Amino acid sequence: MSIDRPEIRSFQPPVRTLMGPGPSDVPPRVLSALARPTVGHLDPAFVGMMDELKTLLRYAFQTRNELTFPVSGPGSLGMETCFVNLVSPGDKVIVCVNGVFGGRMAENVRRLGGVAVVVEDPWGAPVDPAKVEEAFAANPDAALLAFVHAETSTGALSDAAALAAIARRHGALTIMDCVTSLGGVPVLLDEWGIDAAYSGSQKCLSCTPGLSPVSFSEAAVARIKGRQGACPSWFQDLGLVLGYWSGAKRTYHHTAPVNPLYGLHESLVILAEEGLEAAWARHRDNHLRLRAGLEALGMRFVVSEEARLPQLNSVWVPEGVDEAAARTRLLQEFGLEIGAGLGALAGKVWRIGLMGHSSRPANVALCLSALETVIK
Ligand code: PLP
Repeated sequence: MSIDRPEIRSFQPPVRTLMGPGPSDVPPRVLSALARPTVGHLDPAFVGMMDELKTLLRYAFQTRNELTFPVSGPGSLGMETCFVNLVSPGDKVIVCVNGVFGGRMAENVRRLGGVAVVVEDPWGAPVDPAKVEEAFAANPDAALLAFVHAETSTGALSDAAALAAIARRHGALTIMDCVTSLGGVPVLLDEWGIDAAYSGSQKCLSCTPGLSPVSFSEAAVARIKGRQGACPSWFQDLGLVLGYWSGAKRTYHHTAPVNPLYGLHESLVILAEEGLEAAWARHRDNHLRLRAGLEALGMRFVVSEEARLPQLNSVWVPEGVDEAAARTRLLQEFGLEIGAGLGALAGKVWRIGLMGHSSRPANVALCLSALETVIK
């Protein structure tokens, strides 16, 4: 043997308070659910839990969509699952870009051989429905509209109902990224008429990272069934995945992440116990607490009040403060993680998350007092 035995011990992560753009704090109930005994992914008991998961996700998404389940992978895989199943080569897709994640949607369309018609808005602003209307007028053959409901790179919330209504008027289907919005602000798939949506487990659902709830309308399913040629991804081909996630007889597709799915089930039970309206109100209340304290410290928000996400607060780094050094002090002295700016906002802003279990008055108080210390 030429490789020596490594002298490595079990990993013991430090205890942190997670107030960045995700992952958020994971509550003890979810952590203990993750530690329950692993069963087979086709065990009848597990299949029963999968059915409950779909019911719980339909509540979180506010949809009756049959095709609603968690993709075995992070939000990015949920994103790709939507695009790879709905976009065929040559399809024209209107993609709204007002931050990092809209840019990734456009990249998905291009990689699949589609034509991305990009509608741009400034970073920090919501998507402008008037520009989307113009894009459809100039591209009446567009088959899809794609947008990010809650842009995590900036903290801006777009008007999903208005955007979906425009797409519907022009006979196009809608793909919505609700990775950061689900559980923190209203996400009403059926009422808004959204055809495909993907989210993430690690934001306002407060589960561990690595799962991506998705949901597809009947119109989206009809488009998927009617596509010419095979879906270019075997793993993400919904026609195949469904044999595992629905129907009377479940067949092996891939080995599901059994314990992470226990965790997601528990986090959705917690959300259902609290109730969606109460969860949205809690996110709003804690945002208002944080906002009052940040403004008292002289900090300014990046996003205008009407479009501000309660769960992701982007503020300009105060003049003269070394932003990276301040974040290092927060982590080392207070065990507190906040987020740096991304893309065009890198080095200029902090992103303070109040997502899911992290959205608590105690976290707000810790963040404000720690920030006060490090910006002095
Ligand atoms: N979309 C948005 C809006 C996000 O905030 C993120 C992650 O932060 C993603 C997609 C990608 O999710 P993941 O990092 O879980 O792949």
